[in-house]
This record gives sequence, structure tokens and C-alpha cells, in this order.
Amino acid sequence: MTDPKPSGSSGKFSLTGQIMVAMALGIVVGVIFNTIQSDFINTHIVGGFFAMIGAMFVNALKMLVVPLVFFSLIGGVTGIGDVRVLGRVGGKSFGLYLFTTACAIAMAIVLAEIVGPGAGFVMDGIDTSMVERAAAPSVWSVFANIVPTNPIAAFANGDMLQVIFYTVVLGVAILMMGDASKPFVAACSYMNELMMQVVSIVMIFAPYGVFCLIAKTFAEQGIGLFLPVLGYVFTLVLALLIHLYGTLSLLLKLLSGLNPITFMKKMRAAQVFAFSTASSNATIPVTYRAVTKRMGVDKGVASFCIPFGATINMDGTAIMQGVATVFLANVYGIDLGLGGYLTVIGMAVLASIGTAGVPGVGLVMLTMVLTQVGLPIEGIAIILGVDRLMDMIRTAVNITGDAIVTTIVAKGEGKVDMAVFNDPDAGLVDDTPHLPHGTATHP
Ligand code: ASP
Repeated sequence: MTDPKPSGSSGKFSLTGQIMVAMALGIVVGVIFNTIQSDFINTHIVGGFFAMIGAMFVNALKMLVVPLVFFSLIGGVTGIGDVRVLGRVGGKSFGLYLFTTACAIAMAIVLAEIVGPGAGFVMDGIDTSMVERAAAPSVWSVFANIVPTNPIAAFANGDMLQVIFYTVVLGVAILMMGDASKPFVAACSYMNELMMQVVSIVMIFAPYGVFCLIAKTFAEQGIGLFLPVLGYVFTLVLALLIHLYGTLSLLLKLLSGLNPITFMKKMRAAQVFAFSTASSNATIPVTYRAVTKRMGVDKGVASFCIPFGATINMDGTAIMQGVATVFLANVYGIDLGLGGYLTVIGMAVLASIGTAGVPGVGLVMLTMVLTQVGLPIEGIAIILGVDRLMDMIRTAVNITGDAIVTTIVAKGEGKVDMAVFNDPDAGLVDDTPHLPHGTATHP
């Protein structure tokens, strides 16, 4: 696909700029509505119109995920063309995903130990009945479930690890068939381009979707929720920022030599998508678009690493679990000791492999981590109120981690187009759909 000229260059406001403004407006409108507390606004505007537009936007993103992953991955596997290279890309990305998640949670625990949030917290008036619980998955069943019994069910349920497994096996079989499968590969490549075009269309509506999602969240979540847990929120946000701009940026520089500032600028739109949807999975089309069109990462590597990362790599979520564990240990005055914290690191890494990137799942996984180290699960009720906003921020970190590992692996394979990476305008989305015969319309 040849990308249309960025709208910024024609003197108009760029789409990324529009999305950022929509986000800021959403916060302002949401906070105002939260203060007004009118029944009409709550029912018909926040719970009605905003909820409807927001859900339509998230649904539109989700509708793209499975077909995009399937068609791009068939192209990816057949494009890489060598099963050994495929194994190397898979092995490197898996190793790096585990490594970055472990670094994230270890740093979070150390930082939380230094800041010490939660000491002296009073539990009065906390409703513990809303806490969902999860049992720890066995390592063996996590791996056994990667192989689907029914690929149609895997596709219908959007189970990404199963979809990836099935598609990779299919891709390898296509390679083994040789020339006979060329027409099918060409059709998949066409479908991949088509899906990317649909991603561009969905992105045009992003400012409206983002505005509604953010305004709804802030209208529902009062600022008052933050006051009792300010120490937790502060430590968590600080840890997320350190990971994003410290650890991940440093890793990118050290392992690939690429400029982290350029990288972060190009990730901004995808981060806002992740922030608004709180779902790594729903953001897959946008993350994939960012690394391939904006950074110049080879589609073959990205088509494998991005959906893989959205499922198994959750640095931000792991950070939340580290900070929350230390916070709750302080609240209950329990000393976990080194053994306890090492267990937390292991459990959080395992939990991030076994669960999909959907909203709120991190908190459910936290129950499993807490059980493992003997902390009362009821404590989660304390942080429940602020979790939606924390989820939005950590999801933006999660998808940035996916994109960084993907780019590092691609660079190691010599599969980053540096001309695209260094071009600030590469892959920007125009806000005018280009219809044939000059019949362009504005959304
Ligand atoms: N919402 C996060 C994601 O999709 C997962 C979580 O931390 O709840 O990556």
C-alpha cells in the first residue's frame, strides 16, 4: 500500500495530533461530567452515547485482529521462507519478552520497597465483595493449550496463541508445498494489504472513539478514588515511566543501535489507542501498523512478533503486580522476604504468558500472585477503584514493550528499513479516505 501524504504536510492538523487533543478533551469533559453528577448525563450521554461510540470503536479494532494476524502471518512465514530463521525469530522474541517482563517486575519491586507505599493504610469501609479470583495455571497446561483442538473455535474466540500456532504450522506446510501454493500466498498477501487499508479507515475515526472512551472513563471514575491510594498510584506510574523511558529505551539503543526518541515519537498514536482501549489485543492492528509502516520493520518479523507479544508480553501489567504486592504487604504489615519476591517475579512472568491482553485481566492475575505468597486477596479491593486508569497506562507500556522487542529482533535479522525509520513522516495516516474517481469525502 502506498501511504497517503500526511495531512500535516497539507497544512491541516495531523491525525496523531487530533487523537491527542481528543484524549485531552475526553479527560476534561469526563471530569466535568463526574463533578456535575446529573442523572440525564450519566444515563444518556456517558452510559448511552459515549458508551455506544466507544464500544463501536473497540469492536472495529477487534474485528480486524484475527484476519490481520492470519493473513499477515501466512505472508510472514512464507516470506521468511526458512524454518531455521523462523525458529530464530521465535526464540529470540520469546527470550526477550520474558527478560523484559522479569526486568520490569524486579525494578517495580525494588522501587516500591524504596518508596514504601501502603504503610499505615486503614482498611475501614473497603468493600471486598467485588474481587474476582483466579487460580494459578499450571505451566504445563499453559503450553499444552497452545495447540488448538479446533482451529475454527480458536479463530472464533480470538485465542491468539492458538491462532499463531495454527497459522505458523500452515505457513510451514505451504513452504513445503513449493510452487503449488503460490496463488494462495499471493491471495493472502492481497488480503493483508486490504486489512491494512481497513486499519487506516478505522484510524480515521480514532479521535471520536478515543474521546468517547476517555470521557466515559473519567466521568465514571471520580478523582476522589485516587486520594486514599495516592502512594500506590504514584509509585506505579513512576515505575511504568522508568520502564518505558529507561529500561526499554536503553535496551533498544544497546541491542539495536536505533534512536529511542525517534521510536517513542512514532509509537505515540499506538500508545493512545492502547490507553483508550486498555487492551493489547485490540491494539494489535495499530501496533502492527506502527512498526511496519512507521518504523520500517519487515512485515514477516512483525506479523509474528506483534501478536505473540500482545499475548505473552505484559511489562506494564507485571509492574502493577510488583507494586501492588509490595503495597499490600505494607498495608497488612507482612514481610515477604527475598523468597516471596522471587516467587512474585516467577508468577507474574508465568501469568503474563498464560493470559490474553484484554482489559482488567492484570488484576485478576494479581489474585493468583497474592495467593502464592500468602497475602489476603481481599486487599485488591483497595486498588480496584483506580485500576481502570492504571490499566490504560500499563497497556500503553505493554504494547510499547511488544514493539521494542519486535524492532530489536528485526534489526538483528537485518530487517529494518532505515530510510523508513529515519523519515519522520513515514506511514502517517491521512484523515481523508482516498476513493476512486476523486470522490474523496470527509468523515
Ligand atoms: N489490559 C492489559 C493489556 O491488554 C492487561 C492488564 O494488565 O490488565 O495488555
